Amino acid sequence: MRVLVTGGAGYVGSVVVEELARVGHSPRVLDNLQKGHRDALAEGVPFVQGDVADRPLVEALLRDEKIEAVIHMAADSLVGESVTDPAKYWRNNVGGSLALLDSMRAANVRAFVLSSTAAVYGEPEKQPIDEDAALVPTNPYGDTKLTIERVLRTYDVAYGLRSIALRYFNAAGASERCGERHDPETHLIPIVLEVAAGTRPEVSIFGDDYPTPDGTCVRDYIHVLDLARAHVLAIESLGEGGPTRAYNLGCGGDGYSVKQVVETVRAVTGHPVPVKMAPRRAGDPAVLVASSARIQRELGWRPERQDLRVIVESAWRFLRAHSSPC
Ligand code: UDP
Repeated sequence: MRVLVTGGAGYVGSVVVEELARVGHSPRVLDNLQKGHRDALAEGVPFVQGDVADRPLVEALLRDEKIEAVIHMAADSLVGESVTDPAKYWRNNVGGSLALLDSMRAANVRAFVLSSTAAVYGEPEKQPIDEDAALVPTNPYGDTKLTIERVLRTYDVAYGLRSIALRYFNAAGASERCGERHDPETHLIPIVLEVAAGTRPEVSIFGDDYPTPDGTCVRDYIHVLDLARAHVLAIESLGEGGPTRAYNLGCGGDGYSVKQVVETVRAVTGHPVPVKMAPRRAGDPAVLVASSARIQRELGWRPERQDLRVIVESAWRFLRAHSSPC
């Protein structure tokens, strides 16, 4: 399929683009490069620098490139920033998506995959979390993504625009050429790896008094290549006429605590990782673990790299290969 990937020069986006091309689809990338990296894309991947809210640009792109499906990953995604600057999140995540959907309707493109998030669930009591859990986001980031999911359900009914929302848990790891390069970095695994590499003095553990086995927060880390594979299955399902729906994407199991991540990085890298205890980070639920049974059952998706060691090894290889950014 001819697929437009917005935010395709970002961390998850660039791996999705790789995976689409690998299995024979034709990705095109739209990215404003505010956070993405042009060199995250292989040579030959058609690229347009621009904003999803630019109606004339996007409409022309959709028509000229005869796009059949859109994977929308261009968004802001930091929980803390969404609390201090919600206007940015409503404008970019909701406003940007609405403009993109208008362009799609005008160009008659009717298949859409949304990067959504576990943050749509807030702090559920029951783990693992399935898609029927209550949707009660506790921060503006989760709220903006849930809003677009709701918009999408009404657009299916009214305009026949079918969509799949993929609710990511903790994306991590790297492909051979693409990995995490955020500035500033806020995510646990790349931060701990930077400490192992000696470019950061220590890692702060945000709270060790949670009701978890070792007192630190537990998360469900999913390899970015497994995540990318799910996007391919999603557009193929929509291409076959599948209905609008949402899927969780995580590996399930028990998840991994912050301390287990630190231990794994020590074991993989062979380097010491100094840690310091710090207060809880506002808005962090104690445990977030997905049930991905629905996408496994309906699309045949399976995580193939769920061992944290495999995830950390890939991220470490990427960091070492790109200590000056690729
Ligand atoms: N975390 C931490 N120190 C850091 C960064 C993150 O202790 O420097 C913890 C954070 O509180 C959370 C977990 O690591 O419990 C994963 O955080 P991350 O920001 O990677 O992902 P999130 O779960 O917030 O999406």
